[in-house]
Amino acid sequence: MVMDLNKCIGCHTCSIACKRLWTRREGMEAMWWNTVNTAPGEGTPRGWEGMGGGWERPGGGREGRDAAQPRPGHLPTLREFGEAWSFDHAASFAAPARAVPVEPQGGDPAWGPNWDEDVGAGEYPNAYYFYLPRICNHCTHPACLEACPRQAIAKRAEDGIVLIDEDRCRGYRFCAEACPYKKIYFNAVAGVSQKCIFCLPRLEQGVANACARQCPGRVRFVGYLDDPEGPIHRLVTHWKVALPLHPEYGTQPNVFYVPPLSPPRLDAAGNPTGEPRIPPAYLESLFGPEVHAALRTLEGEMARRRKGETSELLDVLISRRWLDLFGPFTRHPREVERVRSETREART
Ligand code: SF4
Ligand code: SF4
Ligand code: SF4
Repeated sequence: MVMDLNKCIGCHTCSIACKRLWTRREGMEAMWWNTVNTAPGEGTPRGWEGMGGGWERPGGGREGRDAAQPRPGHLPTLREFGEAWSFDHAASFAAPARAVPVEPQGGDPAWGPNWDEDVGAGEYPNAYYFYLPRICNHCTHPACLEACPRQAIAKRAEDGIVLIDEDRCRGYRFCAEACPYKKIYFNAVAGVSQKCIFCLPRLEQGVANACARQCPGRVRFVGYLDDPEGPIHRLVTHWKVALPLHPEYGTQPNVFYVPPLSPPRLDAAGNPTGEPRIPPAYLESLFGPEVHAALRTLEGEMARRRKGETSELLDVLISRRWLDLFGPFTRHPREVERVRSETREART
């Protein structure tokens, strides 16, 4: 998957699409396999970037699995993820206008999974933030998989999707400690670890992931990295404008991000300084040093378009034809349901 951060509006439709489809069973109340946090911010779970896990290479270095050693990780608590709240809806509806008691019931009233939304950093007039949607990265070198003593986690050879076999899982949670993105959750009712399944049952029917298909911002591209005509290959390999998040964690993620452009900083008199408002050093801390070349490429292609020239890159990113986002996964979910019911009818 590629997510274009210049198009994300922080609406959380993706999170709700995933929630409705996959995490509505008992024990999954506090699970958000898809999260959209404001960056800079503590994210979900709280302070996840400081929780360790993944791989490190003695003597430093950013990427590659040669000589990589596991980096110790912290097991996030439910409170750090943010507990599921409920509200007294009846009292809220009955209360007079502007006096609605909306205090959450249950859980930590001082922290939730999207607590610091739209807070960001910097001071007016140079405050800045952007939205950072995250799912499991279905890594090429998944720390979760190698940490599991039950061999309950597998990476499918045919499409690279990383899955937990809940029949084998005993809920030890070494995987959750080891994942540096903290994208594994514990179901205390079922006693197993659970995470994003990359909508495998949909993909197998040619239907794109729910979080991608429902996204009103057309942020998410889906496809195979080795399909030279597909959007993922064009953005990641050809144009090199889509980068993995925290490549130094060493797991080789397969979710890539088009980094955010930003308006110029303003000086005390309100004049643009020519410097970007989002500090380049912050973006480098997220996406590695390649982020500067990626931003230059985006700016260069935008300049070409302003001069009336064509840009294949911008055409891909703008995605005028919605279905172009989804590579080979363009079937409508209803179509699959129709095929299923027709098959059922033919059998009876
Ligand atoms: Fe495993 Fe997903 Fe974490 Fe990668 S992001 S280590 S595949 S749980
Ligand atoms: Fe949820 Fe599917 Fe998106 Fe994974 S790919 S976060 S399972 S909607
Ligand atoms: Fe961003 Fe799309 Fe998710 Fe909305 S649905 S928060 S635009 S990724």
